[in-house]
Amino acid sequence: MNTARRAARARAPFLAWFDGRARDVGAGAGEPRRIDWLRQVPFIAIHAGCLALPWVGVSTVAVATAVALYALRMFAITGFYHRYFAHQAFRAGRGVQFAFAVLGASAAQRGPLWWASHHRHHHGHADEPEDSHSPLQHGFAWSHMGWFMARENFAPRDELVRSLARHPELRFLDRWDALVPALLLALLWIAGAMAERLAPGLGTTGAQMVVWGFCVSTVALYHATFSINSLAHRFGRRRYATRDASRNNLWLALLTFGEGWHNNHHRFPASARQGFFWWEVDLTYYGLRLLAALGLIHGLRPVPAALREPAARRGEDAR
Ligand SMILES: [Zn+2]
Ligand SMILES: [Zn+2]
Repeated sequence: MNTARRAARARAPFLAWFDGRARDVGAGAGEPRRIDWLRQVPFIAIHAGCLALPWVGVSTVAVATAVALYALRMFAITGFYHRYFAHQAFRAGRGVQFAFAVLGASAAQRGPLWWASHHRHHHGHADEPEDSHSPLQHGFAWSHMGWFMARENFAPRDELVRSLARHPELRFLDRWDALVPALLLALLWIAGAMAERLAPGLGTTGAQMVVWGFCVSTVALYHATFSINSLAHRFGRRRYATRDASRNNLWLALLTFGEGWHNNHHRFPASARQGFFWWEVDLTYYGLRLLAALGLIHGLRPVPAALREPAARRGEDAR
């Protein structure tokens, strides 16, 4: 192997911290389920950042920022990455689509094409051996986070998102998927540093805003989102005898703004609402209704009455 190629191979894992299209050219190519630990350094660093809490301290502003960023980004992930990009449960203009794609990207869960394409694949093969993140097939840890750390799932599944990939702005966000999270981190630092200078009484600093607003908020968001792939295929009730092991779980629905009604969701994935009945709390759906009332999105797809029928309950708990 010549020196230039060897150097390119050695660089590739670092390149993949920034370039979502960097291909598997590092060591161990041909081992699809191998975890590239070097590639996972940013993901691990965000977790490690939470350990700095005792040093940066706490302030009302920092905690409020963490909570607000959790809520805003959870809504962007569930409402747009999931219900819009992956399932096309409603329509949106290009500006709104892009704005929420940026907000979703700030959650550091890769780009909209990557997220939607792997999720579409999950629905096509849920809890079958091909499912990338079935806890029944591959165990809890793999379904929760091992699957996306593996080299086989690093690239988006392009063939499943051809219509979304027509938009160059989405391709850009998807390829340079570290850009928006890095900008958010920088903004938080600047806001905290300014607060320290201009309003020292608040007790807020740049480092504190990064640890609370970025690290703590993003890690909470990570594990709430991942729990739908792991826990929501394991724990809860099955109203419908879907072909997978999806379950409805109130606690997960509260944490994830409605995604915990996962058995409902596998019953009819194209619906804008995942709480099929009024008592099934679905904060994302209420938010989408608000955006629709404001005229920002259109055509929220309802749940067909026939699919919601109690008659559909035959075979409950079959799995
Ligand atoms: Zn599922
Ligand atoms: Zn889905």
